[in-house]
Amino acid sequence: MKYAVTPAPMYTLAIAGLSECFPVNRIFCVGRNYAAHAREMGKDPDRDPPFFFMKPACATVQAGASLVTIPYPPMTANFHFEIELVVAIGKGGADIRVGQALEHVYGYAVGLDMTRRDLQLDARDKGRPWEFGKSFSHSAPIGPVHRAEQVGHPKSAAISLTVNGEGRQSSDIEMMIWSVPECIACLSQYEMLEPGDIIMTGTPEGVNRVNRGDVMRGAVDGLGEIAVSVAA
Ligand code: MN
Repeated sequence: MKYAVTPAPMYTLAIAGLSECFPVNRIFCVGRNYAAHAREMGKDPDRDPPFFFMKPACATVQAGASLVTIPYPPMTANFHFEIELVVAIGKGGADIRVGQALEHVYGYAVGLDMTRRDLQLDARDKGRPWEFGKSFSHSAPIGPVHRAEQVGHPKSAAISLTVNGEGRQSSDIEMMIWSVPECIACLSQYEMLEPGDIIMTGTPEGVNRVNRGDVMRGAVDGLGEIAVSVAA
């Protein structure tokens, strides 16, 4: 195949314990999936079906225990962290039933849904898409994927984030309004899932800004830690 322009690179994630890497296809993100975070964003938590937004594959940043640096993005004065459980899809499908949903999961990781909060809220208030607030390069640092065949399918696990060593977010993934199988089932009604798709499952309360030079450390019990700094 000859391309008229240089094709975009394939974005990948490391896989814990394997030399192969996980190719990132699409990144779907669940909005307001923890009640206390929905409240801090000025919304009532409810059991309306989950809603989703997307990030481009080029949002992917391979993160892990050793520090990686992401740029401070342009056009924002309020750059926020959101620590999240990440699901890596290994088997595609449409109209997946809740009871079968976990068969489609390759593994799990720790990730950050980095957000230009000022742009997101401005868009929200004007009824515009969230794209400029959420969908930008380097906005999804994600740690190594831990294979479900090795770690199982965690239903409860501590999830936390510190900034410069101070606690900022601390919850448990069992607090999610919509479970991983429910998110997969819902999403697959709207779009046929494909291997390589990523689902970021929402953040607990405590989101806040980071500044240039800050160091974030996020963790989900059993899935390791990621260390991400914001460029000075
Ligand atoms: Mn999020």
